[in-house]
Amino acid sequence: MKCRRCKTPAVIKMPRHNTAFCDPCFQEYLLKQVERAISSGKMFSKEAPVLVAVSGGKDSLALWDILIKLGYETAGLHLNLGIGAYSKRSQQMVEQFANARGLALIVESYQKSYGLGVIEIAEESARPACSACGTMKRHHFNRIAMEKGFPVVATGHNLDDEAARLLGNLLKWQVSYLEKQSPVLSDDDGKWAKKVRPLYRLPEREIAAYTILNRIEYVVEECPMSKGAKVFAYKETLNQLEEASPGAKHQFYLGFLKQKEASFPTPPPAKQDETCRTCGQPTQSEQCGYCRLIERATTVS
Ligand code: SF4
Repeated sequence: MKCRRCKTPAVIKMPRHNTAFCDPCFQEYLLKQVERAISSGKMFSKEAPVLVAVSGGKDSLALWDILIKLGYETAGLHLNLGIGAYSKRSQQMVEQFANARGLALIVESYQKSYGLGVIEIAEESARPACSACGTMKRHHFNRIAMEKGFPVVATGHNLDDEAARLLGNLLKWQVSYLEKQSPVLSDDDGKWAKKVRPLYRLPEREIAAYTILNRIEYVVEECPMSKGAKVFAYKETLNQLEEASPGAKHQFYLGFLKQKEASFPTPPPAKQDETCRTCGQPTQSEQCGYCRLIERATTVS
């Protein structure tokens, strides 16, 4: 198997493009895909710093590595969720990555802040763990970005994540979620940091290959709370489709984005005209969902 561009031995076969690449040509292709996502989505520029949310998994660490190579000013943000050994290993991986490259890293620990991990917070407030986790992540990403002067928060969601989410939204006909599904979410009044997903054009397999070629160590295991999540079944289904019809995931998700743009523009996030009486972040009611959650969890315990 030879590289399509330079004819040296290829390291990766890419059926979706009916091609194969050697290491340097693959990396050049991959960086170009990310640059294309950033520029076509007007995600950010080199004029302002980007806060990269890093979990310790392959996608977010690959994203951080790619943004550095592309010359963007970045800092990492890691939320230690307080999920036992999994969270300890995740933080270690992120710190190891940042220290080896001399990168700025912000770490927030739920155990230190609340004396509780996300599972206990969810239990005490009678919420499913992933729902509480999502509320908390959104709050901290925005709060830290706004406090520290980052207009943009980038996350490592890849093409498989986005296509699986789209499939789930379609299966349940969650029209309001479909309207909001986009690799770029921003508001006009500057109360929220812009949220972007620069890896949305790249499947998990290509990102995994990138981490191997660049010897990026990451936490291989999934969060224990993700056990049984439907998203894995959606990904499996999409993998079967991809096997039978290479490029299916790309056509599915990028086709959706194209149709959506033509049919209805991404609406801005719901107007958050109130200011939360507890934390001061924008909200639709007197107190935001995050503060209600934390108040309930810490009062009950
Ligand atoms: Fe949070 Fe783990 Fe659920 Fe993901 S799987 S939302 S990290 S609790």
